[in-house]
This record gives sequence, structure tokens and C-alpha cells, in this order.
Amino acid sequence: MADLARLKQQFIERYGGTEEGLRVYHAPGRVNLIGEHTDYNGGYVFPAALTFGTTMLARPRTDRTIGLASTNFPAAGRISLDGIAYDPADDWMNYPKGVVRELQAMGFDLGGGADILYCGEIPNGSGLSSSASIEVVTAFGLLELNGHKTDTVEIAKLAQRAENEFVGVKCGIMDQFAVANGRRNHAILLMCDTLEYELVPFDSGAYKLVIGNTNKRRELADSKYNERRGECEQAVRDLKAAFPDLELLGRLTPDEFRAHAHLIGNETVRRRARHVVEEIDRVRQSVDVLRRGDLAAFGRLMNASHDSLRDLYEVTGRELDAMVDAARSVEGVLGSRMTGAGFGGCTVSLVHEDAVETFKRVVGSRYAEATGLQADFYVCSIGNGVERIE
Ligand code: ADP
Ligand code: MG
Repeated sequence: MADLARLKQQFIERYGGTEEGLRVYHAPGRVNLIGEHTDYNGGYVFPAALTFGTTMLARPRTDRTIGLASTNFPAAGRISLDGIAYDPADDWMNYPKGVVRELQAMGFDLGGGADILYCGEIPNGSGLSSSASIEVVTAFGLLELNGHKTDTVEIAKLAQRAENEFVGVKCGIMDQFAVANGRRNHAILLMCDTLEYELVPFDSGAYKLVIGNTNKRRELADSKYNERRGECEQAVRDLKAAFPDLELLGRLTPDEFRAHAHLIGNETVRRRARHVVEEIDRVRQSVDVLRRGDLAAFGRLMNASHDSLRDLYEVTGRELDAMVDAARSVEGVLGSRMTGAGFGGCTVSLVHEDAVETFKRVVGSRYAEATGLQADFYVCSIGNGVERIE
């Protein structure tokens, strides 16, 4: 958690006045624990909110403007509530501007505006969703500050619309949903197309989630992502011979899939489809084993997920594989896998708290040896979704 006393001081240095009326909000980052490349196939994802994220200090104004500043970026400014438009020169401020625009489009009165200072602890662009975090904290804070209801499912949806339509980044709903609806020591079983969801107890006890950033640029990711989506659509077309109404691979059970996989003519497409169907089943199994508190079994499912993403779906790449291999060699690690779309980005490992220091040292050095890249590690637990903290 950010140093609040210092942040308040920075707020007052920038905007003047006193602490009177100042409110503090927090939205976390997120990590997907298992269920990768399942969302666009009508399957479950299983994200969790992290214990670190974006803190937002806000105080109402009366002149219908919003002051925007961040401890993470030098750009700062003041926008008028009457006439918000995307401007590339506004850089990061387009994220909160998009949220304000979306709130206005929904008919919310944002009163006389506000002064805002953000402080982010999430590394930007590494796949832990700093963008969803700043969007969600902005929506929640501005609604709360103006006495409106804060429905966190609606907030997730409007934040996604802001990122899709105002910022212009195509992203699914998982990030905003997890950041808005997470709960301490719970993971979120989420069906992305229906937003049907359930909080599943995930008490990691003496284990920590250790996120490893490969710091590998994800250059192939977009074209490969589209290729995989196309392959999944091909698999559905082939399987229609047995299931005429099939629209999404995720609707098949593993048994149904195995009985009819031969209908998929192309061997590569068959492997892609097998990953999707089995990965969705692994999410279901994860919920079962976690309900029993069997973290070791969950760790094995994490490992199986990574192996399938490596061998069947082929979206891992040298860096993620090297980091996961190194992680699994450390005693006290229950499981390790890539998280996110792949080809770079982060891994997530379940590591005994006594082994965390060894983990960082061993994985860091073995990863550097294998790839020439420097890894970063973030040790965390599962925290709450967006909330007011003061
Ligand atoms: P990710 O969501 O994976 O971290 P993105 O590229 O989607 O990466 O979003 C990162 C962008 O979000 C940053 O470049 C910045 O524009 C904005 N952002 C996130 N957190 C903050 C923050 N604390 N202050 C200002 N801008 C932020
Ligand atoms: Mg993002």
C-alpha cells in the first residue's frame, strides 16, 4: 500500500487547501490464476485481485473541472466536465477522461468536478492490468464522491467500454471485472460472455503468489492471438458435423470432444481445440480442489495448464518456458505457469513463504542465464476489489 501521509501532502502541495473533504480509494491489479485462452471460447477464466494496485485521492470542486495528476507520470492537467474529447497529447489522462465521458453518457451527474491524484504500484504494460485498475478506481471514486450507487459489475462494464471506445484498446471484460469485484482470499470464477460469476475461497495460507515478469516484449502476441481465434473457429466448423448447433468450443465436455475430435481435419487445429476444452475442465477442477483447500492439487493443475499452453496451444515461447522450468525446480513451489495471452508477459507461481527469497534468487539467475533478460518479481496475496479506504 502506498504511503498515504506522503500522498496527502503531495495532493495538498499540488491542489492547495487542506485534508478536509479528501477521500481515498483503491483498486487492485489482477492476475489470472488459470483458464487461459478460454474467454473467447465461451469458457471460464479464474482471475484474482492482487494486494497492490492504484490509490486515488480525490476532493470535490465546484467549477465543473477535474484536475488530474499521477505520481507515475509527469503529465498533469485540468479538464472541463463540459466537452471531454480524446487527445493523444493528454497521454495517460485519456484513461480517466474516458471513464468520465462514459459516466456522463450513462447520465451520472458529476457535480462540480474534483481534484484527483493517482499513485500506481502496478508496473505498466506487464499484464497485471494497471489500465483496468486506474479506470475502475476512477469510476468508483467519482460515483462515490457524488453520492451515487457503486455497482461494481456496472463499473466493470463501463470501464471496459471506456478502454474499448475512448482509449481505443480492444480488451475483454476479465481485467475490469476482477479489479472491480475481487475479494481478499477469493478467486473469481467468471464466464466472460454472460458475466455469470462466483467468488471461490482461495486461502493461500503459508503460500504466496509470486508473479515473475519476463520483461520480454510481446511482439508476436497480436497476430498469434488472431491466428488462435481463427483456429478455434475452424474447430467449431468441423465439429458442427456432430453438433450442428455448436457455436463455442467451451460448450463441449472433454468426453464429447474426445469422441468427436477426429472430425477436426487439421492436426494443429485439433491440438488447439483440445487445449481449450481441457483448460476449461481444469478451471472446474480447480474450483473443486480449492473448495477442499487442496493447494497442492491446484498447483498441479497450474502446471498442467502451462504444459498445455506450451505443447498444444503453443503460446508460451522460450522466455516463459525458461522461467516456469526454473520455478518448478525450487523446493516449496506448488505450481508455476504463464499468465495472460502468452509470448512474454508474466508467470504466476504458488510459492511457500519460506522459499520466496530462494525463489527470487534461483529463478532470477537461471532465467537470466537462459535468456539474457532480467526478471522482476512481485510477491503478493489475493486482495480486495475496488473500495474506499478513507
Ligand atoms: P497494463 O494494463 O497491462 O498495465 P496498458 O498498456 O493496458 O498496460 O495500460 C498502461 C497505461 O495505463 C499506462 O501507460 C498509463 O497510460 C495508464 N496508467 C495505469 N496506471 C496509471 C497510473 N497510476 N497513473 C497514470 N496512468 C496510469
Ligand atoms: Mg491494460
